[in-house]
Amino acid sequence: MRSGQEQTIVAVHIRGLDGMCVGCRAWWSRLTPYPCWQVDWATSQQARTITARFLEGVR
Ligand SMILES: [Zn+2]
Repeated sequence: MRSGQEQTIVAVHIRGLDGMCVGCRAWWSRLTPYPCWQVDWATSQQARTITARFLEGVR
């Protein structure tokens, strides 16, 4: 996965007024309840990156 892709996903996949994911509808014309699995993935990737940076700083 390319670095920075998580931020793009988080920026596009936002909650719509009806509670559905705007990014999934725009990209795939798919109605997905927010948060969709892409947001879950991107969030976990960001958390892992932050944790890794934190651990590197401690060492
Ligand atoms: Zn989505």
